Amino acid sequence: QAKEAGRNVIRFFDPKMQTSIETRAAIEKDLRIALEQHQFKLYYQLQVDVAGRPQGVEALSRWVHPTRGMVSPLQFIPLAEENGMIIFIGLWVLETACRQLVAWQENPATRNLRLAINVSARQFRQPDFVAQVQAELLRTGADPAKLELELTESMVLENVEETIRKMTELKALGVRFSMDDFGTGYSSLSYLKRLPLDQIKIDQSFVRDIATDQNDAAIVQTIIAMAHNLGLEVIAEGVETEVQRAFLEQRGCRAYQGYLFGRPQPVEELERSLLP
Ligand code: C2E
Ligand code: MG
Ligand code: MG
Ligand code: MG
Repeated sequence: QAKEAGRNVIRFFDPKMQTSIETRAAIEKDLRIALEQHQFKLYYQLQVDVAGRPQGVEALSRWVHPTRGMVSPLQFIPLAEENGMIIFIGLWVLETACRQLVAWQENPATRNLRLAINVSARQFRQPDFVAQVQAELLRTGADPAKLELELTESMVLENVEETIRKMTELKALGVRFSMDDFGTGYSSLSYLKRLPLDQIKIDQSFVRDIATDQNDAAIVQTIIAMAHNLGLEVIAEGVETEVQRAFLEQRGCRAYQGYLFGRPQPVEELERSLLP
């Protein structure tokens, strides 16, 4: 590694860099025991329709580290992808989400909520991924139509044929699919129309300056039109202001997720805001 870096080898002596390498190694080590120590928690963020009514939630993983406190998934998910822990974390997310759906099925205020989970590339590539989802649905009794799997463009592109096959098998079980972070990957219309998708999520990077940046506005408008032409639902991520929401609605996007409607929060807090 140092050799490959060539004359950039000096960066290994940068104290800041050294710390981050050490931190990374320490976090990686801790990650291996985090699951068995029950240090992960799912937070839930609301998704609302055009009338502001809750239509679903996205489950977002949180790692409550015993000494570091809350570690961001942006930090630990890539590490878990690398060392393979993501497979076990992914299974835990799937199981926890299915159990949550069953609990929500009991109550009229939560019964109709969909629950979306993020699926990592490595998890999806597991040969028995379809069987794992099926087994978890059966074991818990969760309604498959309420479970939504979020995929990303890059993981789909890794192997389009295998992806289509697995998605088709999961669709047959009744599960929904949503394309996360749409617009940030190498979208190709030719494969997009072949995927059995239900929804596209407009990435928050396009939403942020939607009202002031003409390029972002044009991209968002194009994504919405394309989704509609393909018969897909569309939801915008990272909606923080009413100006952004109104702009999106005006252009035909009728579902929203973002701080304007609620932050990701523990299930107790989410329920407190939903239950009468
Ligand atoms: P994502 O799936 O695109 O999730 C949306 C991210 O945007 C979340 O960050 C959420 O907290 C944040 N967000 C939501 N509304 C707003 C807003 O209005 N403004 C801003 N600035 N941000 C907003 P989070 O929770 O830090 O998760 C980051 C990423 O980590 C996720 O992006 C997802 O790719 C990944 N991730 C999280 N949990 C899991 C998991 O259980 N499994 C896998 N494979 N990946 C996960
Ligand atoms: Mg997501
Ligand atoms: Mg996203
Ligand atoms: Mg993202």
